[in-house]
Amino acid sequence: MKDLFNQTLIKNSISDPWYFKEGMNFDDKNLWWGDYNLRLVPHEGVDFGYTINSDGKISNIQESFFVYNFLKGTVIKTIKDFIGESVFIKHDKSEKKRSLYSIYGHLQTDISKGPVSSFQKIGTISNRKNIPVHFHYSLVWIPENIDFKMLDWKSINTLKTVEFINPFKYI
Ligand SMILES: [Zn+2]
Repeated sequence: MKDLFNQTLIKNSISDPWYFKEGMNFDDKNLWWGDYNLRLVPHEGVDFGYTINSDGKISNIQESFFVYNFLKGTVIKTIKDFIGESVFIKHDKSEKKRSLYSIYGHLQTDISKGPVSSFQKIGTISNRKNIPVHFHYSLVWIPENIDFKMLDWKSINTLKTVEFINPFKYI
């Protein structure tokens, strides 16, 4: 399971595995940077930003880090998020009249709409001023009939039929 996620590190020539601080995992309630305050909503995904070596030393990835797509699908749109850009990818999986999507957040990307394969490069990490370098990944069920124009963080956080799932339990 985590092997697939560690592939992204291997492709960036980093041999250590990912490390997740409290607050970076799915459904965590607090921020993991700054004031460590409560999030506005429980974390809708996983933040990838740190690795741990065999001596237990934790390192932050660099801004030049390449982000690769985990699961094949179709790029539907990119939007601005509060740090960089978010990429919405629709997968060929349906359940209860909903489709499965991946959303990558805080990227710098010039990816265009259309098919995207597993482990295709989709961008680098956005420059940020006060937040440690990381990218966000969500896996989410979204109604099949949603108008793509409506797709943004606000709409999917308010639509009751949308369901975020834990990527580490699904992939
Ligand atoms: Zn996040």
